[in-house]
Amino acid sequence: MYDIGLPEFEILKRETNKDNDYTYTVVPKAAMKWCPECGSANIVKHKKHNRIIRDLNEYEHRVGIIIQGHRYKCKECQSYFGEDFDAVDKSERLTKRLKTMVQKECFEKTFKVIAEQYGISQTSVKRVFDEYIKEISADYKAYAPQVLGIDEVHLHSQYCGVFVDVLGQRVIEMTKDRNKVTVKEFLAALPDNQEIECVTMDMWRPYKDAVRDVLGNVPIVIDKFHIVKELNKTLEDIRRTLRKDMEKGNRVSLKNMRFLLLTGNDNLSQRQSNQLKLLLNEYPQFNVPYQLKEAFRDIYLYCTTREEAKQAYSEWIKTCHDSNCTAYDSFIDMVKNWHTEIFNYFDYRYTNAQTESLNNVIRETDRAGRGYTFEVLRAKILFRGSIAKKGKFNYKGNS
Ligand SMILES: [Zn+2]
Repeated sequence: MYDIGLPEFEILKRETNKDNDYTYTVVPKAAMKWCPECGSANIVKHKKHNRIIRDLNEYEHRVGIIIQGHRYKCKECQSYFGEDFDAVDKSERLTKRLKTMVQKECFEKTFKVIAEQYGISQTSVKRVFDEYIKEISADYKAYAPQVLGIDEVHLHSQYCGVFVDVLGQRVIEMTKDRNKVTVKEFLAALPDNQEIECVTMDMWRPYKDAVRDVLGNVPIVIDKFHIVKELNKTLEDIRRTLRKDMEKGNRVSLKNMRFLLLTGNDNLSQRQSNQLKLLLNEYPQFNVPYQLKEAFRDIYLYCTTREEAKQAYSEWIKTCHDSNCTAYDSFIDMVKNWHTEIFNYFDYRYTNAQTESLNNVIRETDRAGRGYTFEVLRAKILFRGSIAKKGKFNYKGNS
């Protein structure tokens, strides 16, 4: 009458509770034949024993199975033991097929969601996943990508290192912190690390030092997005200082100004562009810093060679001096400190933009589960693409 796809059992009945959960009562079709301790066939049923396990849902119904079985006694070695079924996990009260499903789903869903979905405890879900990530982590080895991206993500009030295959667009490793020692350890342990042709990073000194120590003179590229971010910070500072001095009534329009000022002029709509013009008229203090910011962006937009870019940058500095604008002084110092790496971009046009989107995945995962350990997060980031993702739907069969 019912078929749950577990041929070891004969189904006696199915009951439905008020939550619409199904409970099957089943009996094993075959008795135990050998003692698991000593292998003797000289065993007897000792007493009746019910086991309650959880199985895959049937449509919207959660499924429990009561196995009406026995405990056995071995007459040879005197040990007592329970039944062993192909379909049931020994340590968890789950069918093996449910356990496999939980392991896969942990990459996409939070422990809480999965626990509710199958009516099992969160600690059980966590235990199942922990065991699984130990298993797959043991087999995992980061590889040396052609272009390595080094970045970080803020998790649990500390920075973790994130290492990315920039061309392959995937995270290859995460480290608990981003200290020089940690980064060096990671780079040194990477097989074939001399194959790396280029490293992209932001302006964090320990990254550079670690790369120089381990990978020698490999070109380092500071991403244009990190530079423009720094540039925008300066403009933000001016805006904030001004905001303090302003009357409350004027503050609102200044708040809208943030978007208009920081967005590249080429990315503004006609209407936004007009608003910006009005605002720059109203607050002329912004005019020069704003025009300088746009002029700097143009270097990235229009310069095609390193020499051209360096030339344009010298002219940009001159314009800063000529217009008596000191707002970018510390920005200029920063560019001086990272000059080679920043202009390397014009020789190796790799960006960390992809890394940034991977960072979003990391942050999202973090938000979803406050209690995750670093190991769980790392596994979710490293393995979710390769394990959890299903292929494209295919109407054709395997034959
Ligand atoms: Zn025995």
